Amino acid sequence: MAVTGLEIYKLLPKTNCKECGFPTCLAFAMKLAAKQAELKQCPYVSEESKAKLEAASTPPIRLVTLAGEGGKLELGNETVLFRHEKTFYHRPGLFIRVKDSDGVPSIQEKVKAADAFKVDYVGIPLTVDGFAVESISGDPATFEAAVKAVREVSKRPLVLMASSPEAMAAGAKACTGTSPLLHAADEKNWEAMAALAKANKLPLAVRAPTLEKLAELTDKIRQAGLEDLVLDPEVVGYSDTLLALTQVRRLALKKNFRPLGYPVIAFPRTATNGKVDHVVLAAEMIAKYASLIVLDRFDPAEIYPLLVLRQNVYTDPQKPIQVQPGLYEINAPKDDSPVLVTTNFSITYFAVSNEVEGSGWPGWLVVADAEGMSVLTAWAAGKFDADRIAKAMKNTGMEGKVKHRRVIIPGHVAVLSGELEEVLPGWEILVGPREAVDIPNFLKAMWK
Ligand code: SF4
Repeated sequence: MAVTGLEIYKLLPKTNCKECGFPTCLAFAMKLAAKQAELKQCPYVSEESKAKLEAASTPPIRLVTLAGEGGKLELGNETVLFRHEKTFYHRPGLFIRVKDSDGVPSIQEKVKAADAFKVDYVGIPLTVDGFAVESISGDPATFEAAVKAVREVSKRPLVLMASSPEAMAAGAKACTGTSPLLHAADEKNWEAMAALAKANKLPLAVRAPTLEKLAELTDKIRQAGLEDLVLDPEVVGYSDTLLALTQVRRLALKKNFRPLGYPVIAFPRTATNGKVDHVVLAAEMIAKYASLIVLDRFDPAEIYPLLVLRQNVYTDPQKPIQVQPGLYEINAPKDDSPVLVTTNFSITYFAVSNEVEGSGWPGWLVVADAEGMSVLTAWAAGKFDADRIAKAMKNTGMEGKVKHRRVIIPGHVAVLSGELEEVLPGWEILVGPREAVDIPNFLKAMWK
């Protein structure tokens, strides 16, 4: 939980000696609270105050890192309940589960297909994040072979799922050089699992059927010297999941409740009554508040909407996703090809460029710097006006690239036509459609 400047001030010496570089202890406290100064700048803070302040500045939800050969995945370290308060930092990992009982050929076929899955969403590549290998057989050798099989065809991070410490140890042995999450320690096996995680310096998931029991267990494991923990509250169904995951997040952020200050792993398994759709449940977990979600199967039609949802929830609302302003050539345009103008908001850019590309028309797409806003928003904010469009046309050297003098502007800013004729003398301004989807028909009808 963030500490206020006044709370920090109470712990300072209050002598106003200025050695920290600030005129008063209060001024220093305010800078510390804003994270614009460091505690060590004051040489006179007592050890007791230091301990209190350092504890207060510990993140309310611990950052836990999983690592594969091909990259790492950071979980947790969130600071707000709602995205509009600031932003969410670490997207929940989407993992696909495979079972050791399926046999190596079947495991590798599934993992290869999911590992190769990659879609382009407004210029952002979306992929699955890793795999969870589950010991169904209970046999250490079978589990070790399954983990090795996955590692042969994917370099993504892993979750090892086994309730037997012997099987888990065999799985961990097959993961040398990486950092998988061990799932899971429970009331019965926690001592052996904690010892294994500690010996191998690996993060450990902790599983319990209630939040009270979960908190008791994390406390015991922390006292055993393990800090990199992930919570599994064993949730099932829409309402229990929402309730438990929201309680964990609230207790960690609002009450600074350390035993639940960890990322959460969740399994959107279909409930036995068949009334829960696992994709819808996974979507709920993305929105609130899972850090790692293990899906039972890989299906591109299911994973794609989840990846897009996650991308949207975890995009910083204060920083619009944008493309580089400039000139984009579509379908090898020539000097008689149409010239279109739009803004550099990613979704706008991709909507327009995809429609032009799909239409088969060659075209020049001039992308004006509108600070990453969509057409109407940018126009309303004064970021997409006649001067900016003229500047973009000039900077991209459009005059020298085409022999005609016609430029198509978005239908939403038809109002700019008159001004544009003044700042782009010699150019005819064509008002295009309001929606990108109508561009192909517009070009067919209007571009001769
Ligand atoms: S150095 Fe410490 S005691 Fe001196 S003014 Fe700064 S905060 Fe106060």
